[in-house]
Amino acid sequence: NTNRNMKEKTIEEKTATHPCFSCGAAHQYARMHLPIAPKCNISCNYCVRKYDCPNESRPGVTTHVLNPMEALHKFLEVKEKVSKLSVIGIAGPGDALANFKETKRTLELIREKDADITFCLSTNGLMLPQYADDLVKLGVSHVTVTMNAIDPTVGAQIYKYVDYMGVKYYGETGAAILLSNQLAGIKMLTEQGIVCKVNIVMLKGINDYHIPDIVKKVKELGGSITNIMPLIPVKGSVFENLPLVSKDELMAMRSNCGETLKQMFHCRQCRADAIGTLGEELSTIKNPSVHIAVA
Ligand code: SF4
Ligand code: SF4
Repeated sequence: NTNRNMKEKTIEEKTATHPCFSCGAAHQYARMHLPIAPKCNISCNYCVRKYDCPNESRPGVTTHVLNPMEALHKFLEVKEKVSKLSVIGIAGPGDALANFKETKRTLELIREKDADITFCLSTNGLMLPQYADDLVKLGVSHVTVTMNAIDPTVGAQIYKYVDYMGVKYYGETGAAILLSNQLAGIKMLTEQGIVCKVNIVMLKGINDYHIPDIVKKVKELGGSITNIMPLIPVKGSVFENLPLVSKDELMAMRSNCGETLKQMFHCRQCRADAIGTLGEELSTIKNPSVHIAVA
């Protein structure tokens, strides 16, 4: 508890030193994802669950899952080695809130040792209304929600099912439940001062025309930034053969939506166990000494 006496950072300072929420921080500050969340509660058509959640990760790699105590030890070890570590994130390999018990325990254990580090997590948003207040209490200041549609007829083409309170809902019903929880959840967070980023996977012919409406809705809900990401096709997923958006189409969409809300241009679609600055991955959980090049 050596940091207890330090003055805690304000939310603005936390945002300014978060490599994903502030472009200027991307090369200066490091984030560490702790892979403690293996389960997921929805089924996205661009996902194959044997890999990391592509809502926040590059597909194709399976991350070694840690338990909360192992995550604490990893954090303490990395904190010693990585200067400018400013953010701890929970980004899978499944959904942070589908593994709420582990997420909560991990953050509590770390907070006991570090009063100041920024807590960030990413989620599909299904369980946000249930856990938003707990996240505030845990000291989470930054949340990323992946929201690919604000119309259940569009959502029905993206999500195979939503597993909510023990029941699987398919098609438009499932998409409508997910959507209403995402909208309510984002609002609950922003009203309590949590900085929200919304990730949108751009899916050609499925949701691309609809993205400006999603961004407008995010703004209305008090979200700070949207991150429009290209689909990275995963072998074996429903969208394996979906035509890809070109770099120009992606950039045009971002600059169009940039008139509504701040856009993220520097997302690296990191692994669920990524450590380091966004410009230079320092290590992975399994191989702390290995340097991985970032594409
Ligand atoms: Fe896969 Fe992530 Fe969607 Fe869950 S939320 S199905 S892990 S892409
Ligand atoms: Fe930041 Fe994108 Fe990496 Fe998440 S996936 S840590 S938003 S750069």
